[in-house]
Amino acid sequence: MASAAEELDAVVVGAGFAGLSMLHHLRGQELSVEVFDAGADVGGTRYRNRYPAPGAGRVTKSAR
Ligand SMILES: Cc1cc2nc3c(=O)[nH]c(=O)nc-3n(C[C@H](O)[C@H](O)[C@H](O)COP(=O)(O)OP(=O)(O)OC[C@H]3O[C@@H](n4cnc5c(N)ncnc54)[C@H](O)[C@@H]3O)c2cc1C
Repeated sequence: MASAAEELDAVVVGAGFAGLSMLHHLRGQELSVEVFDAGADVGGTRYRNRYPAPGAGRVTKSAR
């Protein structure tokens, strides 16, 4: 976590897939980034939901 005095290039709100993807891309540009999420851990929807049905939880064609 950044200290109060540390300067960041970017702040990402939300650590779901979109936020983690943004983090990856910004770090790839060697920017200093911090991600904040209201949840207890990263993953967003996928962290909060369990997928009990057979076949659920697969990556869809459009997401590949
Ligand atoms: C039941 C279910 C089944 C699914 N099954 C599939 C599947 O089989 N295959 C597939 O490809 N996709 C599936 N999906 C869809 C996939 O999970 C979502 O499209 C994807 O996770 C969305 O990611 P996201 O980062 O856009 O949003 P989210 O995952 O919603 O992440 C947003 C994050 O932002 C945080 N946030 C929001 N506002 C604030 C704030 N003001 N301050 C701090 N933090 C904040 C939230 O806490 C959250 O962690 C499913 C979704 C559901 C609900």
